[in-house]
Amino acid sequence: MTLIVQKFGGTSVADPEKILAAARKAIRAQQEGHQVVVVVSAMGHNTDLLIDLAHQVNDRPPAREMDMLLSTGEQVSVALFAMAVHGLGHKAVSLTGGQIGIFTDSSYTKARIRSISSDRMRRLLDEGNIVVAAGFQGIDDDFNITTLGRGGSDTTAVALAAVLQADACEIHTDVDGVYTTDPRQLPEARQMSCIGYDEMLELASLGASVMHNRSIEFAKKYHVPIHVRSSFSDTQGTMIVANSESASAPVCGAALTRNEARITVQGVPDKPGMIFQIFKRLADQKIAVDMIVQNIGQDDRADISFTVPREEFQPTLIAVQEAAGAIGATGITHDEQVAKVSVVGLGMAKQTGVARKMFRALADAKINIQMITTSEIKISVLVHRDESLQALRAVHQAFELPKRPADAVKWDVSSASHANGADVNAVVADLQSADMEQLLLEDISLADDQARVTIVGVPNQPGLAANIFDAVAAAGIFVDMIVQSYDGFQGETSISFTIPRDQFDICLKVMHELGTKFKFRRAHGSKDIAKLSVSGIGMRSHTSVAIGMFEVLASAGINVEMINTSELRVNVVVASGAGQKALACVQQRFDANLR
Ligand code: ADP
Ligand code: ASP
Ligand code: MG
Repeated sequence: MTLIVQKFGGTSVADPEKILAAARKAIRAQQEGHQVVVVVSAMGHNTDLLIDLAHQVNDRPPAREMDMLLSTGEQVSVALFAMAVHGLGHKAVSLTGGQIGIFTDSSYTKARIRSISSDRMRRLLDEGNIVVAAGFQGIDDDFNITTLGRGGSDTTAVALAAVLQADACEIHTDVDGVYTTDPRQLPEARQMSCIGYDEMLELASLGASVMHNRSIEFAKKYHVPIHVRSSFSDTQGTMIVANSESASAPVCGAALTRNEARITVQGVPDKPGMIFQIFKRLADQKIAVDMIVQNIGQDDRADISFTVPREEFQPTLIAVQEAAGAIGATGITHDEQVAKVSVVGLGMAKQTGVARKMFRALADAKINIQMITTSEIKISVLVHRDESLQALRAVHQAFELPKRPADAVKWDVSSASHANGADVNAVVADLQSADMEQLLLEDISLADDQARVTIVGVPNQPGLAANIFDAVAAAGIFVDMIVQSYDGFQGETSISFTIPRDQFDICLKVMHELGTKFKFRRAHGSKDIAKLSVSGIGMRSHTSVAIGMFEVLASAGINVEMINTSELRVNVVVASGAGQKALACVQQRFDANLR
């Protein structure tokens, strides 16, 4: 008998009528011959209301008690859902995360799933019940209630689909599927018929809240095809499946994270270990850091800037103040009025000029870029929050996403079956191990054929990045990583990028010519750099990867010159002479996590 998991989000169970409508969908699936597990979120905005309530009795509620409180939202909806099924004449049993046996670690409010027991669900299904599981929650080894992080019911659904080897995992929500960007922000967004795991994972972690990013980590790791569709209609929806081999468009979607905060640690001594000192304190608190950029040292001091979600700003600042004191940095600046706009696409790895097109679109819209980071499959820029929607629209337009035909991405139907082919044994073994969300790495490698160019003292105004990368492209130079750092100093900024080593001299010449025109203070660089890359699944949510790299490089006395992160990969740039040593210590560190 086939088994399907159906998840209903908050809006889909917001009132009694909607609960009844969702219950009818579950019953219909059962009548079509499937065993049905339903995962339900808290009704409507109940989780927000509970958070609000907590803050009315305590500004900083203890995380354990927060989880005790938040889990009640889902407990209400599963009970009502099961009652609705009964009322419609069918059998259903509601279960909390603890009753199912969803064991997590003890990181309250952002717990990771360790194991899920399927026995009780199987028994209830075999007895003809619809199993109604509370999303977003689990228990730790001491039976404390934990939650998985906002939006985590998607992760519960995909994880249950994985352990039950479900034939389908349907995410029923309040939009028709996955769009090229949030259709509530840009009505011109287009629905996609299909998207690959890597692109979806990146989009989700950069702001496409339609899916919880960790649910896509599960899906990719355990080969769970996901069908995102509307709760309110029977339209086709979007399939999230293994990557299609040839995405032709360089960019498949754009995303906005409106509520970001930027923190800059100024005057950091330019020597190994400083980055580690700062970020280990954040990793200890599981704060996910993004857009890490450092100014290449001037006067033996560097500035390190990064972004965090705005709700993490206060704990981040406290941790960073402590770190700055410990390493002798000269100051900290921050800005809570920033937003991150990103474009994502597997195709950009194979095409030149994608970043340039994005910068030009922003320049034409007269939007100033405060920071830039790029990776193989995404480009992110930091802008003022007030300009962020306009920025999103400009880049969405520039890549012609509103025009994109809905079926532009091709996918292989056979790849949409659960745990297909030779992977079955690996998947089953993994599922039986006690740590479902553990870090899984695919590769650790070194590229030793690049050079770095850095321009400092650049007047920071709209059009700057566009002009620089237009000139670089006109000279036929192929750019790989790009970072632009925040630099409060007299409104100036600095940009670093990597290029093939044999293009270093020509690139410096082009930069000197441009420098006279645009008044840069200095263009310099290094002809010999090496890029060390660690790739795997969910590299950003597993903050331990970047931290582990920083740590071993620090203890080996190796300076990190540039960093970039995506969900697929963490790259760090070091001096070429230190490349092999860096590779060896990173390999040693992560040996146990390699697939
Ligand atoms: P649920 O309660 O069903 O989990 P969410 O609010 O978490 O629903 O997610 C659905 C919302 O995600 C949509 O209403 C939409 O505003 C937003 N969203 C953001 N990015 C995208 C995107 N690329 N495609 C579709 N929806 C998106
Ligand atoms: N109810 C939780 C939230 O609002 C989990 C979820 O809806 O996925 O974040
Ligand atoms: Mg959601």
